[in-house]
Amino acid sequence: MVCVVRGYPKFRIPAAAARIHTNRKSLYSLCMAREKPSKDVIVIGGGAAGLTAGQYCARAGLSVLVVEELALGGQALNIEGIENYPGFPEPVSGFKFAEKLETQAKKFGAEFLYTSVQSLKKEENVFTVTTGKGVFTAWAVILATGAKHRLLCIPGEKELTGRGVSYCAACDGPFFKNRKILVVGGGDAACDEAMFLSKLTDKLIVIHRRGRFRAQKALADRVLKNPRIEVRFNTVLEEIRGRANEKGIEKVAAGVLRRTDTGERREEEIDAVFVFTGSVPQTRLAPDISKDEGGCIITDAQMRTSLPGLFCAGDVRSTPFRQLVVAAGEGAVAAHAAARYIDEVLDTVYSSA
Ligand code: NDP
Repeated sequence: MVCVVRGYPKFRIPAAAARIHTNRKSLYSLCMAREKPSKDVIVIGGGAAGLTAGQYCARAGLSVLVVEELALGGQALNIEGIENYPGFPEPVSGFKFAEKLETQAKKFGAEFLYTSVQSLKKEENVFTVTTGKGVFTAWAVILATGAKHRLLCIPGEKELTGRGVSYCAACDGPFFKNRKILVVGGGDAACDEAMFLSKLTDKLIVIHRRGRFRAQKALADRVLKNPRIEVRFNTVLEEIRGRANEKGIEKVAAGVLRRTDTGERREEEIDAVFVFTGSVPQTRLAPDISKDEGGCIITDAQMRTSLPGLFCAGDVRSTPFRQLVVAAGEGAVAAHAAARYIDEVLDTVYSSA
């Protein structure tokens, strides 16, 4: 006896199972229990990894839904000019770049849903993704939820966020033209964003807690050679202080800086603080998956996590080099591996005995 499900000729009840379910009612429930999920693959996250995964899944003929909570593009949206993505010899804005990824994914048939994912569960071979706009099921899920900026967790940071404390130079930098800006951090993001901010002001200080930048040499050198940027190593920000403006609104007015080598502490007047101290992987949906000491999800080279059918790509993954091109590449690998996984599931679960 065979139960064929639309779109899946291989979708058959094993003969052994069919022998047990001899009456029509129980056969019907068996068919329903093995109903085709609403999508082949659900990609959670619409950054470079998620958009590429969506594109590759769709192009491989899989039905794919990309769920994004905020705006497509992820962290790329914060980059003013991407200059190291292969094939783009001229810098391209993160916004434009994300638009191109989206257009390409849509061109091949990827669908998009803008809402947050509340939970992710797997039962038998099917994943259930509960979102703010309904419940969806899929054979495979690609987690590409990325990472969020790491907070300094110092007094004044939370209270003054949006009032001079920012995590995005492209978004908030223009509000501080010719004002005194403090940048905190020593990685690629801090250096990249400091270069952007230096076009807006020459009163720009970059502080880093260690004696040398972590950033790639090319980026670090550019900052060190920029006459509009003052770099202070071995310096940390301990507190951000605000002052009410003429409208009574509290805004950033000063920072308490401490030298880590000498212990010297002093208050310095500043108008804005831009924090670029790395990121925290967004793994809330996969609490029981294997992770590294930094909390990033561990996968094999095929982007397979410790849960069969769950793949992972981009900054949420444990990876030695967080770059757009790496995230996009991982998205492609995850899509390819998900397609193979689905083939295996359909073969093993629904082939006749
Ligand atoms: P990173 O993790 O590379 O760097 C974070 C920096 O913040 C480090 O210098 C770290 O110091 C410092 N830091 C962390 N916590 C604190 C703290 N509590 N107080 C003070 N300083 C702190 O993160 P990025 O966001 O810079 O980069 C993330 C990824 O994105 C990287 O892989 C990077 O290559 C990529 N990227 C690439 C860009 C490009 O190519 N143009 C642009 C932006 C990002 P310490 O060094 O002491 O650990």
